Amino acid sequence: MKHVFGPVSSKRLGQSLGVDLLPMKSCTWNCVYCQIGRTKHYVTERCEFYPPEEILKDIRDALQAGTHIDWITFVGSGETLLYKGIGYLIEEVKKMTAIPVAVITNGSLFHFSEVRSELLLADAVLPSLNAGSEELYERIDRPAPGFTFKQHLDGLIQFRREYKGKLWVEVMLLNGLNDSDEALNELAAAMKQVAPDMVHLVLPTRPAPEQQVVLPDNERIDRAVAILSTTAPVLHPAKGNMDLSNATDLLEAVTAIVFRHPVQETELMAAMLAVFYGNKEQTERTMQELFGSGRFSTIEQAGEAYWIMRS
Ligand code: SF4
Repeated sequence: MKHVFGPVSSKRLGQSLGVDLLPMKSCTWNCVYCQIGRTKHYVTERCEFYPPEEILKDIRDALQAGTHIDWITFVGSGETLLYKGIGYLIEEVKKMTAIPVAVITNGSLFHFSEVRSELLLADAVLPSLNAGSEELYERIDRPAPGFTFKQHLDGLIQFRREYKGKLWVEVMLLNGLNDSDEALNELAAAMKQVAPDMVHLVLPTRPAPEQQVVLPDNERIDRAVAILSTTAPVLHPAKGNMDLSNATDLLEAVTAIVFRHPVQETELMAAMLAVFYGNKEQTERTMQELFGSGRFSTIEQAGEAYWIMRS
């Protein structure tokens, strides 16, 4: 299935079936922490990149497989809302199933009323807000020319007024960029205007291919939680637990995940151990077989090995 991956397990969305609507990589931003690589050419025009029936067929097939799914999550190889017609897809998914629908987006297109209205049927929308000033927004998100911080913030505020579902704003906390008291206070001031239901604080725990971004230390993470908690409840950052127990083909399941972001080897090993009920020998043998497929290579960051796709 070309457009669907998982379900993958995450702290925020439980067992989440991912639906990718975009060709790699189509984005309005070029974030320093992006896990899927540099934005070589900005894409700012919305487009129906794939026929909606093709995407809906993949979702229908995944649902018919009968695995447990908590959320159907639209997330792209770039900025999800560049897919023109996402509102129709959400509407059709709602006819198929009662499973709630989430949309992960950078929120950069919220200043367009037609984009906001396409999301009104989603159960949860998770946009990004990483900075509280134009200067930091430019340094972290590195948007396409013409995209401004004011436009981004105004779009989020307007969306909040119109949207009745759950608005969970994601903040990527980056050492030396937005983890100072000054940056966090600016961010909190902006966040107050958006008034989300929750703030999801996330960390750059996976390597970003282009830039060496650095994890904040625990003191800064606690400080960020304290400052942002003045705006909304804050979900403390934690690593997601990968779950491969429903995978019918381990090689394809692992490929689908590693294709989208680097995976810590220890996390993969833990998920595999669960598949084989704690049998270490079988786990190690399977890990070797997967690696022996030639699809993957490894890189190291902060002493941890990560699986990435072999280029
Ligand atoms: S918005 Fe997402 S996909 Fe686009 S550059 Fe930033 S992290 Fe990467």
